[in-house]
Amino acid sequence: MNSGERLSETGGEGSDGNGAGDPRAGLQAAAGAQWVLQPRGTARVRGPKHFEHSVRKGIKLADYERELGADAQALRVLFPAGPARLWGSTPAAPKKSEKTTALAGRRVGDEVLFYADKKFVARARILGLFRNRALAKAIWGVDENGRTWEHMMALGDVDEFGVPAEPLLERLGIPVPLRSLTLVGADRRHRFLDMVNPSETARAARPEPSPDVEAGTVPRKEDVLRALSALKTHVKDRRPSRHKPITLLWAIGRLATERGRERNRLVEWQTFREEVGPLLRDFGHPDSRVTPEYPFWHLRSSGLWDVEGIDTQGTAPTPSRLTAAGASAGFSKDAARVLRRSLARAEAIGLICSRHLPDVDREALLERVGLSGYASASGDLPGREGSATRRLRTSFRPDRDSRLVERIKEMYAHACQVCGSRVETMYSHYSEAAHIRGLGGPHLGPDQLSNLLCLCPNHHVEFDRLAIYIDEDWTVRRNSTGAVEYQLKRHAEHVIEQDHVRYHRALCGRR
Ligand SMILES: [Zn+2]
Repeated sequence: MNSGERLSETGGEGSDGNGAGDPRAGLQAAAGAQWVLQPRGTARVRGPKHFEHSVRKGIKLADYERELGADAQALRVLFPAGPARLWGSTPAAPKKSEKTTALAGRRVGDEVLFYADKKFVARARILGLFRNRALAKAIWGVDENGRTWEHMMALGDVDEFGVPAEPLLERLGIPVPLRSLTLVGADRRHRFLDMVNPSETARAARPEPSPDVEAGTVPRKEDVLRALSALKTHVKDRRPSRHKPITLLWAIGRLATERGRERNRLVEWQTFREEVGPLLRDFGHPDSRVTPEYPFWHLRSSGLWDVEGIDTQGTAPTPSRLTAAGASAGFSKDAARVLRRSLARAEAIGLICSRHLPDVDREALLERVGLSGYASASGDLPGREGSATRRLRTSFRPDRDSRLVERIKEMYAHACQVCGSRVETMYSHYSEAAHIRGLGGPHLGPDQLSNLLCLCPNHHVEFDRLAIYIDEDWTVRRNSTGAVEYQLKRHAEHVIEQDHVRYHRALCGRR
């Protein structure tokens, strides 16, 4: 049986609704990320179409009010800012199979690797697991036997790439081509991580994209970051204007929310002026004029910005001409696509703040543009009262696993991995477990040992508020000066995932 994922939108009925007795996998914290190898399905079974619809673009929850049922609230909390990325599987045959094992054994926090045409083409974290037949039917239809993808996964940000799958499948003893949903345990995943985890640097260093990857389909993060880094700003009295970088942050904020999905990528001048004007007034140099028309027009020179609805050949138009023409502006399609990915977004925000807005109150500005989570590594700024959304998320997201917290503290006997000091209490010692990539939104890091550090309270605050970061060689550097202050202490059994450290560095504006 190798057609387990076949679906069509015609034929078949089956019972509708998710029966009251349906077991709900619910949310569980993962002990260590496993791999879920997921065949995407061929064009014949609408694999690419479904992928485009429910993973790459994501579905609008509002379009499925009736079918969401008991999962409505959980999904809204998982995807507060917009479209929900979902994938599913038909129920497995009762006999023991790879698929039965995978459906039963996969967990929240696991990494899904999508497989198509003998390549791994994308990956994403599992944010939630649930069973909802009505919703699956509404999104993907049913196959000729009335089956649908009712075993569903809610997915985090999707990273698309193209890595030949054969070498890894061979090492894992899995027949090529991959035919069925397959689970790979945490240990084996860890051993072979590099085979599908080309580090960002390795990817950047590769002279040419793989010829199999269609040119232009995967816009390059490096190009966007380079352009942001090289951003030319108007200089007056030897001070670079803040108008462009502030506008870029505002535009990234839009992308990160529902308002910024493809349809609204470009913003009309009137709206732009109303939203960007006050930001320039409040965060620009006190004596600089508020001229939103300047970034609206001149950001084009960054190569990341489109202006439409007005002749872009001529000289800079006046505000009244922009109004008359109904011009609109925003990130180019390629730039927007890159900046919708969480790592790229974190890197871009860190880079803009540290390079172009070093003297601006970063926390205040990021909060104004809807990116407040990016001002700290945990995403949860102490002292800021949470919104309703955050309260929901807190009660819904799996609490940090207290066993992991105990384990990391025990491993280091409460000694800070940065400075080595142990805070003494009357009878014992005190330390804190710090997530490298925060559990809360927008970071959505995994609750795993590979994402934890044992820190003293001072270094916990400094790490969380981006005052210090860990470099590639495990030195601990001060962000304001770049100076090496410590060597990170690492226990032989504590494997720290570089991806998380890189993410934290990105938030710090360090690449
Ligand atoms: Zn310390």
